Amino acid sequence: MREIDVAALTDGVLAGSRAAIARAITLVESHRPDHRPKASELVRAITPHTGASVRVGITGVPGAGKSTFINALGVRLIDREHKVGVVAVDPSSRRTGGSILGDRTRMADLTALDGAFVRPSPSGKHLGGVARATRESMLILEAAGFGVIIVETVGVGQNEIAVSEMVDTFLLLTIAGAGDQLQGIKRGIIELADVIAVNKADGDNEGRAKVAARDLKTAMRLMLPGKDVRRPEILTCSAQTGAGLDEVWQAVLDHRAHLESEGSLAARRARQQEDWMWAMVDAHLTDAVRDSPSVRAMVHDLTEAVRTGRTSAVEGSERILGSYAADLRRSSPS
Ligand code: GDP
Repeated sequence: MREIDVAALTDGVLAGSRAAIARAITLVESHRPDHRPKASELVRAITPHTGASVRVGITGVPGAGKSTFINALGVRLIDREHKVGVVAVDPSSRRTGGSILGDRTRMADLTALDGAFVRPSPSGKHLGGVARATRESMLILEAAGFGVIIVETVGVGQNEIAVSEMVDTFLLLTIAGAGDQLQGIKRGIIELADVIAVNKADGDNEGRAKVAARDLKTAMRLMLPGKDVRRPEILTCSAQTGAGLDEVWQAVLDHRAHLESEGSLAARRARQQEDWMWAMVDAHLTDAVRDSPSVRAMVHDLTEAVRTGRTSAVEGSERILGSYAADLRRSSPS
């Protein structure tokens, strides 16, 4: 990346320039230490222009139909004059060697439209770093005037929590069969869901999807008993035929309207900001500890000792923190 002029980049983003948006996102995704202060400066500059969009998280196991769904929904929303940004949280490259959500051929119709900006998942091994890049990309798109932001994640556990911490409404896309609904319950993902859509309700599968939706409703009533409890809305849809997509979108908007009417949208976002602050402190501290010279000098042998059981994990952590504290004392003698 050539020398970065943050003021010009900010102006470009606020003017909605696609080139500026792309460069700004590349900046916040960058792993280069000298890019981080520039990225922070950019985020600070655009923040007053953020917050107005509908922020929706979408999760579901691979094959549930997320990209087909987002593609079809996005095209519909753009038809109605919305601008739709899609970003992803997917640090799965850690295990698979490739990103599940990073494939550029997904959402081809949506990607081709002017009203859309589809960004594949940033690369990175640590969920914290990937989540930060995703969150900042979301803010960039908001500042650029995108009124709907979809944050996609693959349903493999921790990612969902990261996404639920940056959106207003969390949509779980599921499918009938294979015990998928129950797996969702076990993993606690269902507890995060504000709307649940059973996808692929078309052709021979329509009946099974309806049964799955009914079973989920029963399960939700057992999990969340009581008259005044707000349970997630459960619907069926077909991303392929488009049936039910408008209803799913309406359920998302209804959920958000409900939050706004209660004043809890502001509370939710305030809590997200607070959590985010501490998540950043955690991430910075961990980086600082890992990068400190004394820790680097001892961490290889210590890791081996902990792995083989010669040193306990607790003792290992104490020695790491002790080395870091010693480095701190050396660098700032009182
Ligand atoms: P993702 O991994 O969750 O993004 O899932 P994809 O969107 O790639 O979809 C996985 C497969 O399911 C593809 O072959 C899609 O064509 C198919 N699919 C997605 N949505 C539907 C649907 O509503 N009905 C049917 N019959 N197939 C669908």
